[in-house]
Amino acid sequence: MHFEDLSAYQYDLPKPLEGVMTVGWLSSSAPFQQGAVSQEFSVALKRLLITNRVNKTRGYHRCELCSVNEIYVCTGNKEKIRLGSAELWLRSERNQSIYAAPDLIWHYIFDHGYLPPVPFVDAVIESLAGINWNANEEARRLLDSAFL
Ligand SMILES: [Zn+2]
Repeated sequence: MHFEDLSAYQYDLPKPLEGVMTVGWLSSSAPFQQGAVSQEFSVALKRLLITNRVNKTRGYHRCELCSVNEIYVCTGNKEKIRLGSAELWLRSERNQSIYAAPDLIWHYIFDHGYLPPVPFVDAVIESLAGINWNANEEARRLLDSAFL
């Protein structure tokens, strides 16, 4: 599923969710920005993959950009998470925005050189200062509100 970066989230919804912006919904048919991210960003993103994965699906999405079938991220000594079946939701106090990315964004960044938009990069780094936002609860509430 492809969405422009920073467009209103509307995956599987009857109407777009204002205030929730998509990041990293890449497709093989659309060019995307490439570049390097900082160590700080990668530490923060990995932490978010542990705490902020929401909207889990039963199956797994594959990466459209390559043929790798099962994609994992190591989150600890012997722990790993399989990517492709959830989204990462994140709120930035500073930007007053919520971002929704496929959890495959990790793979897009570190295996395909994708560079997410600056507000998202900032929001991910901002999360290092502490997360006082229940991603699961808030995502559920917002997703449900699209059907009202
Ligand atoms: Zn890939």
